[in-house]
Amino acid sequence: MITDTTLIKIKLLNPEYPNKSTAIVNGKSSGLLNWNDIAYPKMYDLYQTLLSNFWKAQEINMQDDIKQWDLLSDKEKDVFLRINTQLASLDSLQTPTMSQVMDYVTDSSFKAIFAVISQQEAVHNESYSYILSSLIPLAEQNERFNQAKSDPIVRKRNQLILEAYEGFRENPTLQTLFKLCVNSINLEGIYFYAGFAFFYHLARQQKMLKTSTMISYIQRDEMQHAYFISQFIRILLTENPELQTKENIQYVYDSIHEAVKLEKDWAHYILADVNGIDLVEFEGYVEYLANKRLRQLGLNNLYEERNNPMPWIQVFGDEMMNETKSDFFEQKSRTYSKVSQSNGFDEL
Ligand code: ZN
Ligand code: ZN
Repeated sequence: MITDTTLIKIKLLNPEYPNKSTAIVNGKSSGLLNWNDIAYPKMYDLYQTLLSNFWKAQEINMQDDIKQWDLLSDKEKDVFLRINTQLASLDSLQTPTMSQVMDYVTDSSFKAIFAVISQQEAVHNESYSYILSSLIPLAEQNERFNQAKSDPIVRKRNQLILEAYEGFRENPTLQTLFKLCVNSINLEGIYFYAGFAFFYHLARQQKMLKTSTMISYIQRDEMQHAYFISQFIRILLTENPELQTKENIQYVYDSIHEAVKLEKDWAHYILADVNGIDLVEFEGYVEYLANKRLRQLGLNNLYEERNNPMPWIQVFGDEMMNETKSDFFEQKSRTYSKVSQSNGFDEL
């Protein structure tokens, strides 16, 4: 039997409480943030890493892609636009969800990180719009968004995410927050990758490199978001042992497994006629990703252990990620430097 605790939306300012929160949720916190006095000092490194990723769509000049667009086949254009609007739809859910979670997180340092993530999701959305505006007129953009809204496979895969997100909106509890976070990892850590694979596949052929540069920035952000959320879940479970039930651990395995299945279905549907992407290899890639997400949560591999079968999708390395079961809080701080705009695609 799972007991559940309602999350309290605390007041903005509580001068009688300490600045260093007593818990990440339902804790006592003044509401003031002093980064030098926080419960999990490593969060400052993570915050810095996220900020060092700062980028905006307008920094990337789309001229080369505009010229190349007309050289793409009709099939490539169709898949390009479907994936673009589908990814935009997913990012549209993230901006308000991350902001909403902030209201129920007591620890001000975590609030700040959720604020940065929310801002980055807004940039992701803008970048999809920016790509579209460079390539097709508004009427066609609208048509493509309608297509993404009504596509039955897109709807099916979004359904699980939406249920968890809406569940938290309607009833913010420890349990619904836990489920929201697990589904957020699925969205950011699994659902984007058939789309990423397509754009990197074009980049391997020296096509649409500016789009792929933006996609690689988005990928880097998403990897770090999924990593942060996995650490957030671990802290949530440590601080609230009542969440550490067999059912909840099983929930993680089951929902990641379901997301993997849906991502494979989506890949078969959207990438079926794209030459040069081996879908069996992609299935292995999604399983490889899922194992990584599980290990970041301190859980076991669900799938056969393998090396990355599609290293060309992983433009950014994982050095900054915690891939193992080792304790996050013992890690040395990382440094991160901004990559150049060309981002190594010339070498792909
Ligand atoms: Zn995003
Ligand atoms: Zn994200």
